[in-house]
Amino acid sequence: MHQGGDGSMNARDSTRLPTAIIGAGPAGLATAISLQQQGYPCPLLLFDAGRGLSPRIGESIPPAATPPLKDLLGPAAAQHLARHLVCPGSMSVWNSEQPGHNDFLYDLSGQGYHLDRALFEQQLSQGVDWRGIEHYQGYRLLRAESREPGYDLVFRTPDAREESVRAGFVVDATGPASVFARKTGIARNLLDEVLFACARFTLPDNSAGLQHSLIEATANGWWYGARLPDNQMILTLCSDRALIKQQRYQQPWAWLDALQQTTWLRHQIPACISQAAAETLDILLRPAFSSILSAVAGDRWLAVGDAAACYDPISSAGITKALLQGQQAAAAMVQYAQSGEGTALADYQDQVFADFNQYAGVRRQLYHGETRFWNAPFWRRRRGDIKDSPLART
Ligand SMILES: Cc1cc2nc3c(=O)[nH]c(=O)nc-3n(C[C@H](O)[C@H](O)[C@H](O)COP(=O)(O)OP(=O)(O)OC[C@H]3O[C@@H](n4cnc5c(N)ncnc54)[C@H](O)[C@@H]3O)c2cc1C
Repeated sequence: MHQGGDGSMNARDSTRLPTAIIGAGPAGLATAISLQQQGYPCPLLLFDAGRGLSPRIGESIPPAATPPLKDLLGPAAAQHLARHLVCPGSMSVWNSEQPGHNDFLYDLSGQGYHLDRALFEQQLSQGVDWRGIEHYQGYRLLRAESREPGYDLVFRTPDAREESVRAGFVVDATGPASVFARKTGIARNLLDEVLFACARFTLPDNSAGLQHSLIEATANGWWYGARLPDNQMILTLCSDRALIKQQRYQQPWAWLDALQQTTWLRHQIPACISQAAAETLDILLRPAFSSILSAVAGDRWLAVGDAAACYDPISSAGITKALLQGQQAAAAMVQYAQSGEGTALADYQDQVFADFNQYAGVRRQLYHGETRFWNAPFWRRRRGDIKDSPLART
């Protein structure tokens, strides 16, 4: 690894310094692969803190994810995607008692999928390793300091040492925490925060159907269900931090009770799930933000994926955005490395801001579009009729 501070490199030549990509989720992996594909001239170092044993949540991708995946995975794409489940679209009970359908059938860009999320990231990670990109797993960014002509980064290593690295350019791909950007003083603007109470189930061997994503809006939030590879199913209740606490949705019995109160969803899933015994369930809580950094690119750095901007999972767009932004960020960085001018980085930032504005419009339309529970606090909060004080989060 290129160690900082020993004077062994020409510190004035930032193109000879490595570029550090921090975070190896879909955004960091897509950026690394795409930089290498586009002939980026600097060595690449990819760091990831690791997520321990905590399972990754977020598994539906629409057809729009297929083109970037084909680019990134190359000839192996079809073989890799065949290990996930094709998702023909979604069925949702939203502002109506009758389910509506959104079919992917006529989408020419490709197919939608329900992913085995850990396998999906492994497949992208293999693409990184196959290209010979140095990948440091278990390296957590602790500190970052600007030092001409780049940055000094300090990581905690898997054996609990501190190791410093000098990088000529930094990609922040650390997800919603946007660790590098936050450490260098960039603010994050929060539009909304919802909380997901998630449970995974093993389906009986003879379970048929269940190919669509299933969504049902209720007074206290909305439910989402998807069949996953290997006979797994995920069911999640999206609600508010305040409501989850008040209704005790993190307790399996309260969560199951809420599932029983759905009018449509409970009839779509096998009885062994809707009538599962509370003591067999683990409920995982996961926050999901709608937020954006006040700057997503600057002097020898940029942010990609959730580090740059997070979308509410109702959009099903987080992974697709991460892949596309990885490709856009790589194109901007190649131009920047060739010309030394920041125009390409500024254009990248404009694109991320424009995409977020478009997403915010769609999100608004969706949450305003459910009118059956107009006065319920969850829906009033999404419309901005109730504003929680930051103290309500504790
Ligand atoms: C409940 C829930 C459901 C979702 N459902 C969907 C869905 O159905 N479809 C969809 O498209 N999206 C969904 N999403 C969103 C999707 O998961 C994210 O948009 C996507 O993971 C973003 O990828 P990323 O690479 O930007 O960030 P992440 O996947 O968060 O990856 C960030 C990486 O950075 C690493 N990291 C963090 N801190 C450090 C540090 N200090 N040093 C080094 N490394 C660090 C982490 O270990 C991690 O590997 C969902 C999200 C949630 C919360």
